Amino acid sequence: MPIYEYRCNRCNKEFSQLFINPKGIEKIKCKYCNSRNLTKLLSLFSVHQTEESRLSSIDTSKPRGDEVYRDSRNIGLWAKKRMRELGVDLGPKMDEIVEKGRTGKILDDYNK
Ligand SMILES: [Zn+2]
Repeated sequence: MPIYEYRCNRCNKEFSQLFINPKGIEKIKCKYCNSRNLTKLLSLFSVHQTEESRLSSIDTSKPRGDEVYRDSRNIGLWAKKRMRELGVDLGPKMDEIVEKGRTGKILDDYNK
């Protein structure tokens, strides 16, 4: 699901838009002033893509090595992917868990 970031050329505000239906891209308007005079910024989209590609590059069947832990962002992603594989949909709670993982608290929770 692509997320695009836009800057409004009328009011100069920036906002991001998630597109569930790709046809919605044509109808995008500024959230603040409804202007259609927008400049598309690609930053958020590429960040999103990076996370997806990171997720697919993580092999959860292998034990986590030091390599993964060196990048704290991978810890959260590993957990996220593992949850997906287990068919667990935690919704917003998942982000909370990922956030805990990034701050190093995730193992505390699992060991309880
Ligand atoms: Zn605007």
